[in-house]
Amino acid sequence: MPLIALIALFVAFWSPVSPAEGGVGPSGGLDGSDRVLLTMAAIAAVGTTSALIGGLMARRVARRGPSLRDRRRLARVSQWLEILAVAAFGAAVHGAGWPRFVADCLGIKGWILVDEAMVLLPFLLMLLAIWSGLYPAERMLKAAGLRGMHHARLRGYLVLKARQALGMVVPVAVLFALVQDLRAYLVPSGSVGSWSQLAQYAGLGGMILVLSPAFVRLSWPAKSLPPGPLRARLERLARRFGFRYSDILVWDTGGALVNAGVTGALPWFRYVLLTDAMVEHLSPRQIEAVFGHEIGHIAHRHLNYFGLFFLGTMGVMALLGSGIEEHLAIGRPLWVWGDSPTIELIVQGAVAIGFAAAYFLLVFGFLSRRFERQADIFGCRAVSCGLEDCPPHPDVNAMLGAPAGVPEALCPVGIGIFVEALTSVAMLNGLEPRASSWRHGSIARRIAFLRGLEGRPEAERRFQARVRRLRVAIGLALTIALGLAISTGALESLR
Ligand SMILES: [Zn+2]
Ligand SMILES: [Zn+2]
Repeated sequence: MPLIALIALFVAFWSPVSPAEGGVGPSGGLDGSDRVLLTMAAIAAVGTTSALIGGLMARRVARRGPSLRDRRRLARVSQWLEILAVAAFGAAVHGAGWPRFVADCLGIKGWILVDEAMVLLPFLLMLLAIWSGLYPAERMLKAAGLRGMHHARLRGYLVLKARQALGMVVPVAVLFALVQDLRAYLVPSGSVGSWSQLAQYAGLGGMILVLSPAFVRLSWPAKSLPPGPLRARLERLARRFGFRYSDILVWDTGGALVNAGVTGALPWFRYVLLTDAMVEHLSPRQIEAVFGHEIGHIAHRHLNYFGLFFLGTMGVMALLGSGIEEHLAIGRPLWVWGDSPTIELIVQGAVAIGFAAAYFLLVFGFLSRRFERQADIFGCRAVSCGLEDCPPHPDVNAMLGAPAGVPEALCPVGIGIFVEALTSVAMLNGLEPRASSWRHGSIARRIAFLRGLEGRPEAERRFQARVRRLRVAIGLALTIALGLAISTGALESLR
């Protein structure tokens, strides 16, 4: 998921405070040309930094020859530059007041989608500047025959990067902006009430869940997995488990990535995606195990739960916003930082971003890691023979008359195949097995967990019961938050 583009949307359109009227706020004294100049300066700063670093790295590779370490360094540098871009964009939006220039000076206020696109434009230019700046280094690494995208020309490379970064996010933003614009058109007074606000978010979330397969196709070039032994095995597995989908796609990453995913809330518009490198390097049984992991996300209804989770999160964020406005503003009893509107904006922004980041890292991260483990177990089941004490281990998905249904028992060989698949994925991606990941957990810990289930069905039952309780508890807490946000009117003021 291109997190960086999502964060930029957040920076541009979610403000923890109601927009300042007229001349207050740090950018109050600026006029239109100041705003444009400052915004252009922010873009130029990001561009120059990227070009400098990209040039230096290209020279280094040319001098010493390419290495895997250079590849990782380039990936890290590009991440840091994206963070710099978000910061510079934040400065342009909240410091230089770029959105106010768009609203006041361009004469496009109220044009559907156009004004939102103009607000985002500086960020898009910054991303283009980063990619072009790093391109010389990227090309040096590619030319040396290391794994990587095979798009040698700058234009093709920029298009590919743009598709990856924006293909998921822009359609979502367009839907969001359309709903907002439609509402402004239907209800010019602006007040619609909490319930219709909630219905709007629910409808939007539902549309995203249903349409996400289309967004995935926009982001990545992909083609249908050709008929053959592998496809036959995966189809047999899906039939056995009663899993429905519209197609299995091979993601074209130029051999750069070993990964898989599933998308789509509806069975008749849902893709399972496997990257080209996964199909090439993993054995059919390992791919089956990974495929089983993806089926597991659907079987356990993780996508739908996350949809509801984000709806509830709207309530949490609305309460946060109104709490900040109530207690962390000039003149409130808790306010001790003087009477400068700039300080007020910084404090409010820091508290809002800090809370939102902690919430996602802790709550979403924890839930997400539990769900990954559930999917891992499901992946083991997909290649399990159903005998708790195999071998001999019959290759169920190769058998024509294999019994339908999800086997009750996890077999040791099945767990072994899944663990092998996880290990290969880590190794081929150049990941350290112990490196932690906030959304997935480290590969080493996932493996230790699965090994610990061998021959202990009661341990798995306990784990599944714990996840069920966690889901109910989080669901209850979010329902309460949403109820509070509705009854206090906080949800109405959420932008
Ligand atoms: Zn997963
Ligand atoms: Zn077995």
